[in-house]
Amino acid sequence: MPIYEYAPLDGPGCALCCYGFERLQRVSEPALTHCPACGGAVRRVLGAPQVVTGQAHVLKEKHIARHGFTQYRRVGKGQYEKTAGKGPDTISGD
Ligand SMILES: [Zn+2]
Repeated sequence: MPIYEYAPLDGPGCALCCYGFERLQRVSEPALTHCPACGGAVRRVLGAPQVVTGQAHVLKEKHIARHGFTQYRRVGKGQYEKTAGKGPDTISGD
């Protein structure tokens, strides 16, 4: 299935759609018209469906950090490692 890119139509959007987001969809599926998180209007970005690369992921993390969000990824049971933003480098759930 191709990955389609969506961008907000108006307004700042939410954490999901403010910079656009990608959605794995069947070719036969209709385009989304609203953000699944905040319900704001979105449009599908025209262009060839793209393969998401590691670089695209890094760019997103930079956006997250610039706007004061902190992102963690789970690295183990109750263990989280910071991937973007301010805050402790690791979080332990214990
Ligand atoms: Zn949204």
